[in-house]
Amino acid sequence: MVSTKIISDSDLRNYISGNSKSNKVEALLKLQIDSWVLVKINYNDLNLIKKKEFLFDGFEILVQFNPGRIVSSSAKVDAKSIGERPCFLCPKNLPFEQKGLVCKDDYLLLVNPFPIFEEHFTIPHFNHNPQEIYSNFGDMLAIAKELGEKYTLFYNGPQCGASAPDHMHFQASPKNAMPIENQTEYLNKSSENIFQNDVVTVSAITHYLRNLFLLESKNIEQLTTEFQKLYSSIKETTNSDLEPLMNIIVTFDESWRVYIFPRKAHRPKEFFLEGADKILLSPAAVDFGGLLITPREEDFDKITKEDIISIFQQTTCDDATIERIIKHYCK
Ligand SMILES: [Zn+2]
Repeated sequence: MVSTKIISDSDLRNYISGNSKSNKVEALLKLQIDSWVLVKINYNDLNLIKKKEFLFDGFEILVQFNPGRIVSSSAKVDAKSIGERPCFLCPKNLPFEQKGLVCKDDYLLLVNPFPIFEEHFTIPHFNHNPQEIYSNFGDMLAIAKELGEKYTLFYNGPQCGASAPDHMHFQASPKNAMPIENQTEYLNKSSENIFQNDVVTVSAITHYLRNLFLLESKNIEQLTTEFQKLYSSIKETTNSDLEPLMNIIVTFDESWRVYIFPRKAHRPKEFFLEGADKILLSPAAVDFGGLLITPREEDFDKITKEDIISIFQQTTCDDATIERIIKHYCK
């Protein structure tokens, strides 16, 4: 079934310039805009998006009003709702018009028909396996490298923003489209080095509204080893039976940079309120990357700096837990 969904080089020939994998990805989007009305409309509607910026102490957070994201942001991700719908990432259920490019042998890169970015892709595994990062982290690094010339990869945990927690997938956005990717200087200044050897560096970053770990290396094996060690520390410290709540962003430019955001909650209380107090904002990797998505214009208009602080405080792993994770990881 997958084979009927794979785009060929000859299908792309009228759209492609250059020979790299990133050139093929760009060409796929152009082709899908030409051949799939929903994609044409929704990428054109990106012109209607509104953005505003909030300055914090040393860095900024962007807020984007994006009505196309209402379905994803308010998606029901409980087991019953998931079990009752056909999986929209399985090759057999993809819309007729949708075609993709193979990444790392067994993933299919697809144009996301409900974009946040001018180029936005979803990268599901060929098979219907649950969303989980521990054993798929190496795949994430490999795909980040494959697309690294122009794109950044991100991952939403099954209980942390993935709208298909039953089907393993990543997403890709244009490089530097998330504010965090441009805040390296601030992050370097405020990071605490917790592990370093010849090939890999692990740091913790607090005082950034949301807390995170940053892993840097050119070596895929060592990076995977340190990630799995850190994952285990997060899992034990937060007493998680399942995958601990987390979002991940990975960039590749000669070496990998892996941003890991451990979380204490999926959605803030404002999400569940009614009337004037409601803010429909369901934070996932992109939001933790510094680009908050509000699918309702009223929320975009009324959101304040205090709301942003409160939303992150309710959903990021708190300072005390980060300290305990570090202790566990370093012992
Ligand atoms: Zn599936």
